[in-house]
Amino acid sequence: MHVENIIVTAFSTNCYLVGDEETKQAMVIDPGGDWEAVKKMVDDRGYNIKYIVCTHGHNDHILAVKNLKDYTNASIIIQDKDKKCLQNPLYSGALMFGLAQEECFEDIVVFDGEVFNVGNIAFKVIHTPGHTKGGMCLYTTGHLFSGDTLFYGTVGRTDFPRASFDEIKSSIKDKLYVLPDDTVVYPGHGRKTTIGHEKKNNMYVKA
Ligand SMILES: [Zn+2]
Repeated sequence: MHVENIIVTAFSTNCYLVGDEETKQAMVIDPGGDWEAVKKMVDDRGYNIKYIVCTHGHNDHILAVKNLKDYTNASIIIQDKDKKCLQNPLYSGALMFGLAQEECFEDIVVFDGEVFNVGNIAFKVIHTPGHTKGGMCLYTTGHLFSGDTLFYGTVGRTDFPRASFDEIKSSIKDKLYVLPDDTVVYPGHGRKTTIGHEKKNNMYVKA
């Protein structure tokens, strides 16, 4: 599996390109803005982009989705409870930060436990509400893309409307800390970590 990321927007969001080297299919996770940089990553690697995946609907994870959709015609995937963020700058937070948002529409709405394939790699959707209602993580053996649910040493903010610390805590404890300790965690912001490291060291959610 090929994984690389660039950092986009003033919020330093990790936008990932995750590809299957055998089939040359890939998905882009959280193209939050800085379209030219996202486009360069896509062009440089030459993967066929099958999916655009939004781990949640906040502006810094979705603002280049429309550009990437127009460029690749890949299918947009988002969890059911965050899908309206793609059309509504109030829900995405774009309005609050004075950012322009072009509306776009999801192609595939996903729910907890669903599986989709990028080439020969199967990714499981883990619905992890808390930071937003429709936050989700993507899991394949050894790798977790955790969006703004779990970070190195910390967790996603829950001081927004529709956010809940109790929810993010149970999402992490019940659905992420049950994964193997050596699972590498690729978060929506900041450096990589592992499930084992967070179970021991996370400031907010202990195992
Ligand atoms: Zn967020």
